[in-house]
Amino acid sequence: MDKKIVTSWDDGSFYDLRLSDLLLKYKIPAIFYIPTFWTQRDLRDEDIVELKQKGFEIGGHTVTHPIDMKTLTYDQQLREIAKNKIWLEELIGEQIKSFAYPRGRYDETTILAVKEVGFENARTTAIGNFVLPDDPYRIRTTVHVYPETPKYNKPDWLKEAYRLFQYGDYFHLWGHSWEIEKFKLWDQLESFLKHIYENVYSQSQ
Ligand SMILES: [Zn+2]
Repeated sequence: MDKKIVTSWDDGSFYDLRLSDLLLKYKIPAIFYIPTFWTQRDLRDEDIVELKQKGFEIGGHTVTHPIDMKTLTYDQQLREIAKNKIWLEELIGEQIKSFAYPRGRYDETTILAVKEVGFENARTTAIGNFVLPDDPYRIRTTVHVYPETPKYNKPDWLKEAYRLFQYGDYFHLWGHSWEIEKFKLWDQLESFLKHIYENVYSQSQ
């Protein structure tokens, strides 16, 4: 199958380990974006190394996961982005290339800082995209793994995922493993990872 599959998981929750086993089972690649100090980050340092050793990519997600990067000065943003990158690189012994904007909030200043620090790409939280991203510093995703919430205009993620998987040359699933646990989405997620696996591996032979 001629489709680029990307999954990405933010915040470095302890449930990333359970998620990583599920991804391995269905041979799905992933990037784990990990902040340095933040309440949702409860992966231990050795767990982050383990994710790397399992073959997954580790990405930057700032030091403190600011509520809105746009409200910080350029220098403050630069420090948030750079110190997290240096920490992760020392931890896994390899250069970190990918970044995700905390809460998807950024502006031109943030992009300048991300480039200055040496990141090659950055992911937003925009959904609904199924063509290959044309701007590496404004990567848009396809579907957010999150329960249906009509009040906030959140569709049924699984229906959206099956629908949008039919189109285009790109599919990017993203979310937070602590939300998968909180909202009991593990079975739904596994059914969809299996769907990706069956499509990718049955048609490529
Ligand atoms: Zn985050």
